[in-house]
Amino acid sequence: MKLIINFVAVASLFFFTGCATQQVNTNVNKAPKNVILMVGDGMGVGQIEIARLLEKGKDGRLFLQTLPYVGLIQTYSADNIVTDSAAAATSLATGVKTNNKRVGMDPEGNPVDSLPDYFKKDGKSVGLISTNTVVDATPAGFVASTKTRYEQAEIARQILSSEFDIVLGGGSDYFEAKKQKGPDLIPLFKEKGYVVVKDKTELSQAGNAPKILGLFNRSYMNYFLDIEERNSNEPSLLEMTQSAIASLSKNPKGFFLMSEGARIDHAAHAVDITGVWKETVEFDKAVEFVVNWAKKDGNTLVVVLADHETMGLTAAETMNIQALKAIKVSPEYMAAQLVKNADKTAFVIDSIKSVFKTYANIDISDEEAALLNKRSLNKKGGLDYEYRVGWEIGSIIAEHYGAGAMSTGIRAQSATGGHSGNMIPVFVFGPGGDSFEGVMDNTDIFKKIKLLAQF
Ligand SMILES: [Zn+2]
Repeated sequence: MKLIINFVAVASLFFFTGCATQQVNTNVNKAPKNVILMVGDGMGVGQIEIARLLEKGKDGRLFLQTLPYVGLIQTYSADNIVTDSAAAATSLATGVKTNNKRVGMDPEGNPVDSLPDYFKKDGKSVGLISTNTVVDATPAGFVASTKTRYEQAEIARQILSSEFDIVLGGGSDYFEAKKQKGPDLIPLFKEKGYVVVKDKTELSQAGNAPKILGLFNRSYMNYFLDIEERNSNEPSLLEMTQSAIASLSKNPKGFFLMSEGARIDHAAHAVDITGVWKETVEFDKAVEFVVNWAKKDGNTLVVVLADHETMGLTAAETMNIQALKAIKVSPEYMAAQLVKNADKTAFVIDSIKSVFKTYANIDISDEEAALLNKRSLNKKGGLDYEYRVGWEIGSIIAEHYGAGAMSTGIRAQSATGGHSGNMIPVFVFGPGGDSFEGVMDNTDIFKKIKLLAQF
C-alpha cells in the first residue's frame, strides 16, 4: 500500500515538475543517513495496550501507534523457545541467533560485528542509552562481546575501548575500582576526551559535547514512579535521548543511536501494571521526540520495537484501572519499606499489612501476608533481593486488582523470570520503513538496517 502511494507521489511529481523527478527518485533510493533504534524492553502488545488504556482511555492512542509501518517479530533464541535480553539484543544488533546469556557472540562463543561497528567504520557517530545499567544485557549486545551477560566489569572495559561517542544510563559501580578489581575506568574515559556527567544538571551543562559518558545511578536508574520518593536528579529517557541526538547529529556523516526504555521489562516482571503504564508512557514520549526530529531531518530511519515480551501481560476485562492508577510507588520501593524480623527470614506481618495499605490501598489478609513471606525466600532460606520481593508484591497487587499475567509459579520456574515467546510489534518511520512490514525474525532487523544503510 505504502509503496503504491510512494509510486503515485513520485509519478505525479514527474508529471508536474519534469527534471526535478530525478532528484526525488534518488532520495527514495538513498540510504538513511541516521538510524535510531528505540527499544522498549519487554514491551509486547499487552504492555502497549495497558499503557494506552491507562494513559489515553479506551479510544485513545499512544504516539508510537501512529507510525506508518508496523510489523511483528519472533524472538526465540538459539537454545530456548523464549529469549532473554542478552540473546535478543545480540540478534537485533548483529543478526546472529545466539544462546540466552550470550552478549555479542554466536552460540560457539565467537565475537560478531554489531550495527554500531558498521556505522563507525563508515565514519558515523554512535550512541547508547539505557535506563538500566549501561553494562546490562540490552546495551551490552550493541557494544560488547562476552560469553555471559554477567561479566559487567569486562563489558564496562569494552565500552571504554569501543569509543562509542555517547553512553548514558545507570551502572557507575561497574566502572569503579571495586567492581573492576583494578583501575577506576572514569579517569581513563576523561583522558580519552569524554565529558563525564552524573546527573540531569551536569548532562544539560555538557550541551552537545561530542563525547559524553553519563552514569546517573550506581545501579539501574529509578523507576519513573520512584523518582520523587527517592529525591532523584536523574535525567529521563526523553532528556537523555534529546541530549544524545544534539551531540551525535553534529557529525555530518550521520549516526546510529540505540535508546532503551529498560524498566518496562522490570515493571512487567513484577506484574506492576502502574509501572508498565508509566514506563511505557515515558518511552512513548522519547519516541515522539525522536520521530518529530526525524521528520524535520528528512533522512533518519526510526525503528521502535521490543526485545521480547515479559509475563504475558494482558489488558484483562477485570482490571481495576482507577485503583491501579492511584498507586504511587513501585513494588520494589514497597519491598524496601518492609521491616525484617530478628533473624532476617521473614518480614513482620504488621509491616506487610501497612505497606500494602499505604501504597496500594489494599487490606491484605494474614494468609496473604504469610504467602508473601513464603514467596520472598531465596534458595538458601533467607530473604531475597528487594527487586525479587517486589515481583511477589506486584503479583499480589495485580491479583487484587484483576490484572492478567503469568502466575508466580510459572515465573519462579522460568529461567528468564517470566519472559514469553509472544511476537512483539515493531513500529517504523522514515526511509525504507515499508520493508519492516509483515512477520519477521529478530535477526531480520539487523539485516534490513544493514541493507538500507548500504553497508
Ligand atoms: Zn526481563
